[in-house]
Amino acid sequence: MVSVGEAAQLVANNCKTSDTVVVNLIDAVGMYLSKPVFSEINMPPFRQSAMDGYALCVHESNNYEVIEEIKAGDGHLVELNPGQAVRIFTGAAVPDSANAVIMQERTEVDGIELTILGAITIGDNVRPVGEQVKENELALSEGTKITAAVVGFLTSLGIAQVEVYQRPKIGIIATGNELIEVGQPLSYGKIYESNTIMLQAALQAADYTQLTTFKVADNYEATRLILDKIIAENDVVLISGGISVGDYDYVGKALLELGTEQVFYKVKQRPGKPLFFGKKNRTKIFALPGNPAAALSCFYVYVLPALHKMTGNPNYETHLVNKKAINAFAKKGDRAQYLKAFVSDAGVEILEGQSSAMLQTFAVANALVFVPEELMEINQGDTVEVIYLPT
Ligand code: AMP
Ligand code: MG
Repeated sequence: MVSVGEAAQLVANNCKTSDTVVVNLIDAVGMYLSKPVFSEINMPPFRQSAMDGYALCVHESNNYEVIEEIKAGDGHLVELNPGQAVRIFTGAAVPDSANAVIMQERTEVDGIELTILGAITIGDNVRPVGEQVKENELALSEGTKITAAVVGFLTSLGIAQVEVYQRPKIGIIATGNELIEVGQPLSYGKIYESNTIMLQAALQAADYTQLTTFKVADNYEATRLILDKIIAENDVVLISGGISVGDYDYVGKALLELGTEQVFYKVKQRPGKPLFFGKKNRTKIFALPGNPAAALSCFYVYVLPALHKMTGNPNYETHLVNKKAINAFAKKGDRAQYLKAFVSDAGVEILEGQSSAMLQTFAVANALVFVPEELMEINQGDTVEVIYLPT
């Protein structure tokens, strides 16, 4: 048995970043850059007008002669002498000989005669070459998440593909003779199988979409065979149930028989004491308790940070935030505890119904309160540590 801190550390130590892959920007959304991106061009690539107005070759007087028009996209070169101006529009190239752009709202025009109203400063409304990023300069650092803004920005630099960390392929398997698929009648002694779809939902919400789900009865041979296949085919395997000490819990035995290296089994926590973490070749294996609330709690606390680390998310660690407890709680036993809770402006409320078999409480929770091993009770008004659940 390891402590929650040791378990989190062991998971992190054993989950390195995935291999990298070069993909089209649009297919990289949600992934993380595995190396910095340098710009191959200046952005903007030419001196650019930030306004609709007039580009001026500034002189003493407020009166200018308009000699030309330059629209966005025009590529012809215009030479201005002091006192001359060109009609110009947002995004158009400002001639080298112009040193400021005045917005049209601050001008009066009569034919080719332009009068500027008020003062102008050299450089006004001209975006210098490379103002945003210069050729060969860092555009984005390693670890940046590919978002809409990143896709837009890199495309504006002429970049079509990026190197990112691969997302792991994940196999999920539910074990249990009692499990019935939704849609089938519920006969006596059976329950609906809900853990695979629940884990699938949690994974999809975090952009992990390469998923396959399986089910197996409480049968040693069948469990060993299917685990062998799933471990070989996936980077991460999540097993639900069958990891406890019951006579029909075959997961641990099958994993060890298959040559899985056990990193830890059992964590001094509630819920989720029977959590197993191991690895075989490249595959990381989490055997989660079957009780649904325990499985989900272990998923958020251990599995999700591990997946985030593998995909190069620099922010992968679970963040604890301090909140004021609205209500009191007395802990039984000396295990660390993750309590379903609801955070509002008033503080954090520890919810009724903390049983690891109950999902209803989880369904209305937006956070987990972390109660360390040594903390035995929480009083109203105490500062407690909270983990926000992904929304
Ligand atoms: P186990 O960890 O296999 O001993 O299961 C613990 C409890 O969780 C039992 O009450 C199981 O019926 C329940 N359980 C196990 N797997 C699932 C599942 N996939 N969906 C819903 N409940 C489950
Ligand atoms: Mg079971």
